[in-house]
Amino acid sequence: MTGAGAWVIENCAIATMDGPRDDQSGTEHRSGHIVLAGGRITAVGEGLAADVPDGARRVDGTGCLATPGLINTHHHLYQWLTQGQAQQSVLFDWLTELYPVWARIDAEQVHAAATAGLAWLALSGCTTSTDHHYIFPRAGHAGGGSSDALAAEIDAAGRVGLRFHPCRGSMDLGRSAGGLPPDEIVEDTDAALAATEDAVRRFHDPSPGAMVRVAAAPCSPFSVSSRLMRETASLARDLDVRMHTHLAETREEDAYCRQTMGRTPAEYAEELGWLGEDVWLAHCVHLDEAAVKRFAATGTSVAHCPSSNARLGAGIAPVRQLLRAGAAVGLGVDGPASSEGTSLAGEVRQALLAARLRDSCGPAALTARQALWLGTRGGARCLGRADEIGALRPGMLADLALWRVDTLAHDAIATGPEGGPGGGDPVAAFVLGPPAPLELLLVGGAPVVEGGELRTADVTAAARDVRAARQRLGAYR
Ligand code: ZN
Repeated sequence: MTGAGAWVIENCAIATMDGPRDDQSGTEHRSGHIVLAGGRITAVGEGLAADVPDGARRVDGTGCLATPGLINTHHHLYQWLTQGQAQQSVLFDWLTELYPVWARIDAEQVHAAATAGLAWLALSGCTTSTDHHYIFPRAGHAGGGSSDALAAEIDAAGRVGLRFHPCRGSMDLGRSAGGLPPDEIVEDTDAALAATEDAVRRFHDPSPGAMVRVAAAPCSPFSVSSRLMRETASLARDLDVRMHTHLAETREEDAYCRQTMGRTPAEYAEELGWLGEDVWLAHCVHLDEAAVKRFAATGTSVAHCPSSNARLGAGIAPVRQLLRAGAAVGLGVDGPASSEGTSLAGEVRQALLAARLRDSCGPAALTARQALWLGTRGGARCLGRADEIGALRPGMLADLALWRVDTLAHDAIATGPEGGPGGGDPVAAFVLGPPAPLELLLVGGAPVVEGGELRTADVTAAARDVRAARQRLGAYR
């Protein structure tokens, strides 16, 4: 385990998120303490810490709110290289414009993009992120190809210091077979299955406190054959790893599934073995009532990406309905080509606003605490790690974010009549206000961000490297 240094953080408001579900998000402290040692949380409570471990670093959290580290449940890090393109396109046109560019990306470019993307996530309070990489051009096609892209991004995550759940994606349904992607960037079905198994055997760590866990992740119904979906599910269950894919993102996808498969995307997924407690699905914007019930009944989780859905004009996912039915929902910033520079902390607010806008649901759609639950506990449920991350309570991993809520934009909400936390609402300040400055970010007790600055990597060098990688790719409008 990395960074087993001990910490004592005191005098801060604390949202532990230790409750059992989104509408009972848990214990809060107005001025409390958190003690971390050996990579785990050892104490949380009101007032000052009773026991201070030898050599612990003490942090005065006055003016701050401590939350669990945020969890990002959907991303495509390589897309940092193609931000700002296809600005007026819906999903299928956007993909069609970008596939040929993505086909040329090599592992070195993926490394630069992943470093930039993960650094940005850390600076927005993320302690655990997933990534969905599905661009693996066939040998002999396109440019360098990116066959070892997963190794590149796992190396980047290790350098930035985030807990990382890369998804070995795949596509095998090219245009000539009725799919959307050009043939040259899809894999042979058996090769995709073998590469998925290889990624799990090389990188997946099932042990407690793991920094890297791999998921199996065919891309989408319109780029993957039913055989690859079915056999990936079987492989993932044999290997005991989680499963992830895109589902029901746009009306066009819904129409594609009804026309080619005679089913809704959710019905198609269930038929292929793709609903279950080991599955989390990105987007799920266009779900009917029956699908919401099936998700809840099967324990299927959803990665909700409100900014990306807005950028592509895809619609708003039925988050309120899913939560009421009992399904878990986490947050995802999604790939930067459809969600440029999205802050994960900002996505908590975006989720609240989007839920309230959907079908005129109004303020009852999501409370500030439910929105924070999505970014913490909901995300942990998506990644199958609710016993280790997403809440601040003894025994959980020492993954924590400490936010300044004493700024001009937050102070009036966060503080009470005497200028202290009593009577104020620091959680509302954090969720309803703009992204709060990040005072401290710990992953397994290791400092990743301090005083708003990334401690693990040089952000200027990361920006320079990713700019050079993009120039080499030639990815400009
Ligand atoms: Zn996506």
